[in-house]
Amino acid sequence: MTKEQHFSGVGVASGIAIGKAYVRESGSVDVPERRITKKQIKAEQERLGGAVSLARRQIRRLQSRIAAKTDAAAEELGFLLDAYLQMLQDSRLVRGAKTRIAEHQINAEAAVNAEVADIAEVFQAMDDSYIAGRIDDIREVGNRLQRNLTKTPGKQFSAIPRGGIVVAEQLTPADTAQLDPERVAGAATMLGSAEGHTAIMARALGLPTVLGAASLMEGIKTGDDIIVDGMSGRVIVNPSAKTIQAYERRRAEHIKGTRRLDRLRNLPAVTRDDTQVTLQANVELPIEMNMVIHSGAEGIGLLRSEFMFMNRETIPTEDEQVASLKSVIDVMGKRPVTIRTLDVGAEKPVAALLEGIESEAVSNLGLRGIRLSLAQPDVLETQFRAILRAANSGPVRILLPMVSTVSEVRRAREILKKAATKLRRRGIALPDTLPPIGVMIEVPGAALAADSIAQVSDFLAIGSNDLTMYTLAIDRGNEHVAHLFDPLHPGVLRLIQFATGAALRARIPISICGEMAGDPRYSALLLGMGIRELSMAPSNIPRVKKRIREMDMAAANHRAGIIMDQIDSGRIAMLLDDFNALA
Ligand code: PEP
Ligand code: MG
Repeated sequence: MTKEQHFSGVGVASGIAIGKAYVRESGSVDVPERRITKKQIKAEQERLGGAVSLARRQIRRLQSRIAAKTDAAAEELGFLLDAYLQMLQDSRLVRGAKTRIAEHQINAEAAVNAEVADIAEVFQAMDDSYIAGRIDDIREVGNRLQRNLTKTPGKQFSAIPRGGIVVAEQLTPADTAQLDPERVAGAATMLGSAEGHTAIMARALGLPTVLGAASLMEGIKTGDDIIVDGMSGRVIVNPSAKTIQAYERRRAEHIKGTRRLDRLRNLPAVTRDDTQVTLQANVELPIEMNMVIHSGAEGIGLLRSEFMFMNRETIPTEDEQVASLKSVIDVMGKRPVTIRTLDVGAEKPVAALLEGIESEAVSNLGLRGIRLSLAQPDVLETQFRAILRAANSGPVRILLPMVSTVSEVRRAREILKKAATKLRRRGIALPDTLPPIGVMIEVPGAALAADSIAQVSDFLAIGSNDLTMYTLAIDRGNEHVAHLFDPLHPGVLRLIQFATGAALRARIPISICGEMAGDPRYSALLLGMGIRELSMAPSNIPRVKKRIREMDMAAANHRAGIIMDQIDSGRIAMLLDDFNALA
């Protein structure tokens, strides 16, 4: 009998999955050989150099993730990662591939492939079982380089049997977008944190998921029984019959609780003393639209438009974008849809847009969101044209991500006007007034200057995820500092309060669409600060509505006032939890 093994990480999407593991190997990527010119050799070698540095960083990240673990599996994995790192120093593999690029004038991917094949042949010829075992390691490193070169997120998921649970070193948001919740029961990874976009995507799909479970991959193989508890963050491999039974009971209770909340669907989000609140949905993928309707959302407060650009090599055409947007707008009917322009960069890479741009250039502090869009005005203009055409099908608002200055909003408005003029010239009828343009408040500088930003915006939307990250200097995707990520930090709350006050004074709508909005624990505080529009993962709408319906607004205002006078987030959390417990 195999021994039951427990791993813990962070539970990021609620629910319990019980099934068979599908371990995503770090699959190979098939890239055809391409001839390059003499002039391109240096750039191609540099591209390989970039992929090698990225691979080193990825492996170091894995190393530090398991450093704190003392079990045998972690130790073995540590040795393996050391060996991988060595292969990425100035090794035969890296040197050989660089030479091949120059001598054979071929692309880096083909050079790595050929070099791996050559080394494997030499190893195979040696009659030594230890060396034979290293062939797989060389291939693994070669595959990692290929993935980094092609920016391909590893093997796809079409082979997962129905009800399978994906286990991987890491899932990118684009990987996660490919998990079909009708077929896949859950997911568990070694890397990742609760606030990153992978977590947001998993929540959007309603997929029980645990991220950041260190050394998980060492204890598991495809076909093993596995339980993923997205609430407690626990992963159990080869559970005993007794453990399975206990989790089946827990799963049934969870499903019952969710059904009870469903009854709130058609009831308004109104406090006991008659304050109306608007609850809208955040949408990552059109596949969520059923859930959006089922949740009773009054509109879409944030459509993350990156989905149209993910998992493809080319930029979608204007027509393709119109069709995708219309598929969402048509479902919503008269309810407004807030389309955010591309927020590419950092954790959300889009290969076609980042061609030739160093990954460092698009870091969290780099060319992300509106900055990248303004650096590629043609892409933004096409997106605006698509939004304007789709806006003929229903009420639409436009939202700009990662804004830090008034001039960015002005430049975006100019591009929008240009897009409208071009469409009118083409004979496409547009409404006289263009859709409202709003701004995400997610950079501390923008929050502090919210009164100026409000002067050039039709509405504001607080992105508490990034606002917390940038205010506290905590990378939201980094599991080492995940425990420090704290939206209740007085610094974050003051920025939210200031931005809300600025919007109310300017008489423009303000909403919050970060993950905070979807957690009923925070509802009283956000309402108490004056926010009346919350946008969240559709699965959270019933829970937040329940909290609002049992809340007394006057008491929430009073409690928010006390909380905003506090200097310490521990005390703030206590005052909030006490207040929530009174409900
Ligand atoms: C946010 O930062 O809070 C937000 C809603 O945007 P995203 O999570 O897509 O960065
Ligand atoms: Mg953001």
